[in-house]
Amino acid sequence: MALRLALLGLLVALWTWLQVQGAIGPQPQGEYLVAGAPAWEPAPVRGCSPEALAALDVRVEIPPPEGGWPGVPQAVDVFNVFAGEVMVAHGEREVCGRMHDAGTRDSRFRAGVGMVVVPPAGDMEPIRVAWTRPLKPAWIPTVRVGAPSPVQQIDTARLLVRAAALAVAIALAFTALMGFLSARDGVFLGYALLCLLAVLWQAILSGLSGYPQPWLPVGESEWRWLTALSCIGLSTLLYGMWLLVGGAALWLSSRRQLLQLTLACWIGGAVLAATLPMAALAPLARGVDLAFRLGYLVVFAIGLYGASHRRAFATAGGSAEGTAGLAAMLPFLAMGLLDLAGNRWLVEYRVEAIQGSITWFLTVSAYALNLRLGRLRRQRDEMQQLADTDALTSLPNRRAGLRTLELRLQQARAGDGELTVGFLDIDLFKRINDLHGHAVGDRVLVAVARVLAAAVGEPAHVIRMGGEEFLLLLPGVEGDAARRRMEFLRRRVSEAAAGLGVPGLAVTASIGLASLRAGDRDAAALLRRADEAMYRAKRGGRDRVEAACGEQGAPTPAE
Ligand code: GH3
Ligand code: MG
Ligand code: MG
Repeated sequence: MALRLALLGLLVALWTWLQVQGAIGPQPQGEYLVAGAPAWEPAPVRGCSPEALAALDVRVEIPPPEGGWPGVPQAVDVFNVFAGEVMVAHGEREVCGRMHDAGTRDSRFRAGVGMVVVPPAGDMEPIRVAWTRPLKPAWIPTVRVGAPSPVQQIDTARLLVRAAALAVAIALAFTALMGFLSARDGVFLGYALLCLLAVLWQAILSGLSGYPQPWLPVGESEWRWLTALSCIGLSTLLYGMWLLVGGAALWLSSRRQLLQLTLACWIGGAVLAATLPMAALAPLARGVDLAFRLGYLVVFAIGLYGASHRRAFATAGGSAEGTAGLAAMLPFLAMGLLDLAGNRWLVEYRVEAIQGSITWFLTVSAYALNLRLGRLRRQRDEMQQLADTDALTSLPNRRAGLRTLELRLQQARAGDGELTVGFLDIDLFKRINDLHGHAVGDRVLVAVARVLAAAVGEPAHVIRMGGEEFLLLLPGVEGDAARRRMEFLRRRVSEAAAGLGVPGLAVTASIGLASLRAGDRDAAALLRRADEAMYRAKRGGRDRVEAACGEQGAPTPAE
């Protein structure tokens, strides 16, 4: 109910929002629609304020080729500068922009901050580029220079990769939320949270937080956001990895302890990143990186150990999930190794590499989560089966039987059909136990269960109500037909016991039967009549079938 109300509220909010945006309204009259409005001023490319210029602390000059600039347009695109202003200048022209505010940037470039300049032919003045030094030495700003079209294409390709990674994380978060709603398993909620964190983190890393307009309150504190989110994101990632590879089988087995540790990292990281002076932020950011790498190595090593010692990890959710966990971690390992080798591609495409690794991790862990969901469903089905089955005879027990009875009752009412139940009680069973032993008593019960199930034909319709009492459901049968079926079952019970070959063993049963009446409010009334009829059969000398008072079928003496 609450979910439906929330959905309705969401729809109303969406409709209102679209109205406000002017997206819903009168349909266009003609064969085309003119959208937007003519521009009143040039595109907002921003000059550099004195404060912006003062904050720039790395200055690079791109010299012209030998003989001077050829007189054609040159695109300059600066990547991997996440915080502060980036300046591109040539001659009199000086443009500044920042990743987290697309409004300040040349719209031809979205994955970097760029500009197109046209130095006159033969001009010898270098193009000047400047930025604020990144916090981490691993973040190496990259300047790409060239003809506008190829530079722009690379920029666009990067933007697409970044946006796609974000979209995947959003989609996975929704899927996990649905998984949580269906399985009610907290792990799905945790995974959805990890996905949402990945969305935030990637949005800031890729500059998409400022596109098309700033939608995250990053402002000018990008490094604080990035440091806090690295701390939160990386600790959560480690937590997820730990669970995936089944590390809990070795250490920190309580998920609560691990969660507390992760939450401490969250709060500590957020508070430190928000309050530390800028000078102290760099060591914190590097410390977080180092801690992640060390933690990663430990988790990976434990995952490998687990893969080779499956038995010790049996409790951790099965080897398939552990292997998926290791596979999910691989790109991070590859990135670490490439970093050690000083790989140039990784320097240039670090954002895409990180986003790719996160996407891979989220996707493979979604696979592991699906394995888990399958396992949980199987376990639940097995438990349900156990809870509904009588251990000795494998018949449905009282609980399951009453459920089936209720169902058949509803069906009979809906279809105006007939329903008869028989209450079967083995006669003087206590004496069988006393004379032949409990083990023979058990064999009798199993044999009786088997012949009843075979004779009734539908396994759900023979129920062990307890002890030596069985309930038989005969939907669609009434009156004399029902009685004849019961007589047949009574004879089959005696034959089954005779077939056991125990000397001196004779088994009979008394059956009370009752059919559904229009006035029956629930199954209890029907059962009560059958029970009364059964006791009448006992009082009448046992080994017989009795119908409930007023129902068809005259009492028959035992044959
Ligand atoms: P009546 O004809 O009046 O039904 O007499 P009865 O002896 O069958 O009835 P009573 O209720 O006195 O005894 C039922 C006996 O069934 C008592 C109990 O020890 C036995 N019993 C109940 N469950 C099991 C079981 O799972 N295995 C065996 N061997 N005996 C059981
Ligand atoms: Mg009994
Ligand atoms: Mg009995």
